[in-house]
Amino acid sequence: MKQIRSFCFIILVLFFTEPLFAQLTSIAKKENEVLSVMHSISSYDLYNTIKELTSDKYYGRLTGTEGYNAAAEWLAGEFEECGIKPYGDNDTYYQWFDIPYILVFEGCETYLHIPVKGGEIQKYYKYVSEFIPGSTSGSGEITAEVIYAGYGITAPELDYDDYKGINVKGKIILIEREAPVSDRKDPELFKKWRPYSFHQYKLKNAVEHGAKGMLYNYGPISNPNNAYDPGFIYSHVGDTVVSDLFAGTGKNHKETVEKIRKNLKPQSFETGKTVTIKNYTEYHPEGKGSNVIGLIEGSDPELKNEVIILGAHLDHLGRCYEIMPGANDNASGIAVLLEVAKALAKSPVALKRSVLFLAFGAEEQSITGSKSYLEHPRFPLEKTVCLINMDGVGAGNKLDALAGENYPEIWKPIDQANQQYIHQSVRPTNFPNLARPRLDAARFMWAGVPSISFSAYGTRSPYHVPHDNLEIITPEIMEDLAQLLFLAIIEIANTNMP
Ligand SMILES: [Zn+2]
Repeated sequence: MKQIRSFCFIILVLFFTEPLFAQLTSIAKKENEVLSVMHSISSYDLYNTIKELTSDKYYGRLTGTEGYNAAAEWLAGEFEECGIKPYGDNDTYYQWFDIPYILVFEGCETYLHIPVKGGEIQKYYKYVSEFIPGSTSGSGEITAEVIYAGYGITAPELDYDDYKGINVKGKIILIEREAPVSDRKDPELFKKWRPYSFHQYKLKNAVEHGAKGMLYNYGPISNPNNAYDPGFIYSHVGDTVVSDLFAGTGKNHKETVEKIRKNLKPQSFETGKTVTIKNYTEYHPEGKGSNVIGLIEGSDPELKNEVIILGAHLDHLGRCYEIMPGANDNASGIAVLLEVAKALAKSPVALKRSVLFLAFGAEEQSITGSKSYLEHPRFPLEKTVCLINMDGVGAGNKLDALAGENYPEIWKPIDQANQQYIHQSVRPTNFPNLARPRLDAARFMWAGVPSISFSAYGTRSPYHVPHDNLEIITPEIMEDLAQLLFLAIIEIANTNMP
């Protein structure tokens, strides 16, 4: 009886495990050698790459600056060392594009004037916890009344104008981010509002209405993805500033926003408050930046013309008062990309398809690097099997695979490699394709290239602030991801793809 039972058990085990093992066919043949290379990927090396890229010598890697170019050179040097071929412009690792940039210096201020008997006192807001100077702000100082202008939107065809009935000439506006309609709750309606949800639109619309300054209720974060007007000075603010400006007006901020969203009718008004914004910035229209591109050429005479792209953005926000190191966003993605590149360069299984390593520039500046690549792709897009992208993969203990559900044929080998060898929590999600292109991967999807984008979660990670630094990094999650992608890319490079 006992024998029969264990026999049945073996049959069961074979039945359930056989198909799984059989599916990563290209790895199975040389499993021990492959796993030995996989284990050479270490969290120690991953951590050290982040340490390098977040060091002050790169000044936060704002594309267009010398700091960024030095980081790009460092990465190119690493590619060269492990035998990754240059695949940018003219046999170099770099693919160049124009990218104007703005430097924001120390000493910027945002403060409130509070009238008191016989004069006034000033309330200075704290850098980072209460305000961050606008990353594309003009340079100079403005002291003016603050007008609440809702979402800062003028949409005649939607019969909606936040500027109707108020005069913002020479004033500072306080506005909300996004649009009064949710892209998730009502995707169809959001489509109509989408063009008005962009930062660039809001800034330009404010300038057109004669406003001279802006308090952007987007949380105190740095964000160079905005328009620039030399005479327009602004800060990003959060709850403290907003509630100070609403205090004593008889209005409550939360209720005001709810009213706009419910009725789709503006609620603009004069706050009666006076604020000073003082920013020191420098505009550089001449900026030039690059993607960094390396290649492992495929071994198959036919399939080598098809390419798998592993991508991550190398840039960050540069200096916005203080240097923004961007450890999680996105030194972490580059660290994983580099370790996967090194491991694939010594893969015991030859890669039939080519693998392109693509470090994007200017993701933070309107996702310009991926746009530039798509305008000048190194392989035809119809020969591009997929983009596997990484953005913010350095902090947390679980992984999200954005659009994993949208591209099952790419997701399958990744999922199988995970189940068989890595055993990490990786959650594929559905990408409804309605959001603005806030990711390099989104641009590729829109261009028809299957794209899955990884990010880590599970801890609170600071976003676009100076403390996105080495201290918040959890290298183990990057090690799991790097090992997973090493295996999955071998499989994708060698098996039949639809
Ligand atoms: Zn970012």
